[in-house]
Amino acid sequence: MNIILLAPPAAGKGTQAELLDKKYHLNHISTGDLLRSAASREDDFGKKLKEIMASGALVSDEIVLELLEKHLEQSTNHNLLFDGFPRTIHQAELLDEMLEKKNDKINYVFLLDVEEDILKKRITGRRICKNCNSVYNVNIEALNPKQENTCDKCGEMLYQRGDDNEEAFKIRYQEYIEKTSPLINYYQDKQKLYRIDSNQQKEIIFDSICKIIENNKQLF
Ligand code: AMP
Repeated sequence: MNIILLAPPAAGKGTQAELLDKKYHLNHISTGDLLRSAASREDDFGKKLKEIMASGALVSDEIVLELLEKHLEQSTNHNLLFDGFPRTIHQAELLDEMLEKKNDKINYVFLLDVEEDILKKRITGRRICKNCNSVYNVNIEALNPKQENTCDKCGEMLYQRGDDNEEAFKIRYQEYIEKTSPLINYYQDKQKLYRIDSNQQKEIIFDSICKIIENNKQLF
C-alpha cells in the first residue's frame, strides 16, 4: 500500500502520517525531514539548503530526488507513505516512473483541505519538541494547546521552525498554489485522489482516511 499526503503547509500532514504509520506500519517518508537533516550540515550545501527552506521556497527537484532515492535504497519496508512529496508535477512523474520499474504504484492520494487563514494561524503558533518532535500550538485551542515552552511528554524545550513565520508562509502558500496544487488534477485524472475536509480535529480527519482505506482494501 502506497499513500501520498497532499496538502498546503501546516495542514497536518505530519500528524496524520504519524497516526497512519502507527496503524498500518508504513515507511513514513517526509522529504521536509530529509531536507532538514541535510540542512543541519555545517558545509556550504547545508547552509544553502537552510536558506532556501527558511525563505519558504521549494528545493530543486534534483536535490529532493537524490535524498529520496538514497533513503529508499536503505529501506526494507516497501509500504510507502509520502509526506510532502511529490510537490511538483515533475516529481510526481518521476515517482510514477520509479514505482513502475518495481511493478508498483500509488494507491491513495489524500488531499488535506484547510482554509488559508487557518493555515496561517496554525503556522505562526506551531511549536515542536526538540527531542521527541511532538507538535503543539499556542494559537489554536483544538491543536494540542500550549503556553509553556517545554514538552508535556519528555520535558525538553520546544522550538519554532525557521520557516514557521508569516513572511515565509506567504511564499510557502504561493509555492503550493503554483507548483503543488496542479497535482490535484493530476491524481484526480488517475482516480486516486480523496479530498478530506481537514478543518477538523485530527481524530476526525484520521477516521475519514481510515474509512477510505478500509472500504477500498479489497481492490489492492
Ligand atoms: P515540510 O516539512 O513538508 O513543510 O517542508 C519544509 C520545506 O522543505 C518546504 O517549504 C520546502 O522548502 C522543502 N521541501 C520539502 N519537501 C519538498 C519537496 N518534495 N520538493 C521541494 N521542496 C521540498
